Amino acid sequence: MTVTTDLVSYDEALESYDPVMGLEVHVELGTRTKMFCGCSTELGAEPNSQTCPTCLGLPGSLPVVNATGVESAIKIGLALHCEIAEWCRFARKNYFYPDMPKNFQTSQYDEPIAFDGYLDVQLEDGEVFRVEIERAHMEEDTGKSTHVGGATGRIHGASHSLLDYNRAGIPLIEIVTKPIEGAGERAPEVARAYVAELRELIKALGVSEARMDKGQMRCDVNLSLRPNGTTEFGTRSETKNVNSLRSVERAARFEIQRHAAVLSTGGTIVQETRHFHEEDGSTTSGRIKDNAEDYRYFPEPDLVPVAPPREWVEELRTGLPEQPLARRNRLREEWGVGAHDMQSILNAGAIDPIVATIEAGAPADQARKWWMGELARHANETGRPLDALPITPEQVARVTALVAAGDLNDKLARQVIEGVLAGEGTPDEVVDKRGLKVVSDEGALTTAVEEAIAANPGIADKIRGGKVQAAGALVGAVMKATRGQADAARVKELILAQLGVEG
Ligand code: ADP
Ligand code: MG
Ligand code: ZN
Repeated sequence: MTVTTDLVSYDEALESYDPVMGLEVHVELGTRTKMFCGCSTELGAEPNSQTCPTCLGLPGSLPVVNATGVESAIKIGLALHCEIAEWCRFARKNYFYPDMPKNFQTSQYDEPIAFDGYLDVQLEDGEVFRVEIERAHMEEDTGKSTHVGGATGRIHGASHSLLDYNRAGIPLIEIVTKPIEGAGERAPEVARAYVAELRELIKALGVSEARMDKGQMRCDVNLSLRPNGTTEFGTRSETKNVNSLRSVERAARFEIQRHAAVLSTGGTIVQETRHFHEEDGSTTSGRIKDNAEDYRYFPEPDLVPVAPPREWVEELRTGLPEQPLARRNRLREEWGVGAHDMQSILNAGAIDPIVATIEAGAPADQARKWWMGELARHANETGRPLDALPITPEQVARVTALVAAGDLNDKLARQVIEGVLAGEGTPDEVVDKRGLKVVSDEGALTTAVEEAIAANPGIADKIRGGKVQAAGALVGAVMKATRGQADAARVKELILAQLGVEG
C-alpha cells in the first residue's frame, strides 16, 4: 500500500495543534466457556465446531451469564480503581454484520459494570502519566469473516467470504478511557504505554493472556486535534483493531499528521472509522461512524440484571495482585536496573519470564542477560512473543547453573539454548547429544596447549620475550582445537605457565 494521504511533518503538526485521544481496548477473557452459553472458547478448533443455538442466535434460545466473566470484569474494574456498579444490565446493540448472527451484540450501554477509574502509566523518561478510565463493560465477541480470492484478504476483490462463528459469544471486556488531554507531542507514546500497562495488568489478574498477536487484546485509537490554546474538542477519527503496541503508537502518530494536513488547508475531518496498515503505518478510511442512536440500544430482556453483592466485590478487591507499575519499581530495586532498561524489558514482554527464571534459581543478571539477549533475538526472528518460545524459565535457569558450575562457557551455553529452541530436548540432553561440555580435564588441556605452542614457535618466542598480548593467538588455537569447549581464562594461564611467563 502506498500512502496517498497528505501529511504534515510531526513537529509541524504539534506546533499548531494539540492532540486529544481516546483509547478503547477490547480484551478477550480466558474463560473456559462463552459469555452467554456453554460453548468452548478454545482457539484453533475446526470452524463452526464450537457453536450452539444461543451463540448462533437461533429463535427460542436463551442466554445465561457466565459468572466467571462477571468476576473477571469486576477484577479488571477494581484494578483500574473503578467504581463497581451495584446493579447493572446488559443491552442490545443492534446492527447487521455477517459475522454477528444474532443481528445484535449483547453489550452494556449506559449501565457498565465498572466506571470512573484510572491507570498510571510510566513514560520512557520515567515520568508517570495518569490516564482516566471512563468505563469497563462486558460484551461478547463477533464471529470471524475470511475473504477469499482477493489479493489483500480484504473484501474488495474477493470472490467469496467464509464465516466462522466459534469466536461469536466469547466474553470481551471493553475498557474505554476518558479523553486523554495534555500529552502533547507525547500522545503516541502515552497511547503505547497505556496499552502496554493495561496488558500487564490484565495478565497479572490472570483473566486473559492478553496476546495482541492472537487478537486477544486489540485497541481502537480515537484521535482529534484542536488548535493550540483552545479547549473545545475537534472531530475524531477512530482507527479500529490495532493489534500491536508499536502499531498503536504509529497509528496515533499518523493520524496527528493527517488531521493536521486536513485542518491546516481549511478542510474538515469526518467522523469515521479507519483501518491501520502495518506495511507503512498509514490509515485509510473505513465507514462513516454511526452515532449511538443508530444502534437502537435497549436493555436485554432475556438476561437478569447483574447485582454483585458488596461482600463479593470486597473479597475480590482483597485478592488483587500488586499493580504492575509498583511491581516493576520493586523489581528494579531487586535487579538493580534503571527505568529505561526496565521499559525495554517490559516492551519485550520479558518481565514474567525473567521473574520465573530467577524463581527457578538463576541469578537476576543472568536471567536478564539470556531473555533480553539470545532469546529476545530468537523471538524477533521468529515473530513470536518471548513466552511462546519452546524453552521454559526452568530450562534457562538450568543453563545458567551449568555455566556457574563451569560445565559450560557462554559460547557453549548459547549452543545449548539453540538446541533446546530447535527441539533437541532439555539443556542436559542437548549437552549430551552435542557433546558440549567445557573441557576441564587439565591433562587434555595441557596436551592441547603443548600442541599449540609446538605448532606456533614464532608466537611462543614473542611471548617468552615479554609480549604477553600475543598469547591471544595461542588461546585461539587451543579453543579451535577443543571446538570452543575450553575455559579461555584457564587456557591462557596454562600457556603462560608453560612458557614460564608471569600473567
Ligand atoms: P464509540 O462507541 O463511538 O467508539 P465511545 O464513547 O465508546 O464511542 O469511545 C470514544 C472514545 O474516544 C473514548 O475513549 C472517548 O474518551 C474518546 N473521545 C471522545 N470524543 C473525542 C474527541 N473529540 N477526540 C478524541 N477522543 C475522543
Ligand atoms: Mg468505539
Ligand atoms: Zn454457544
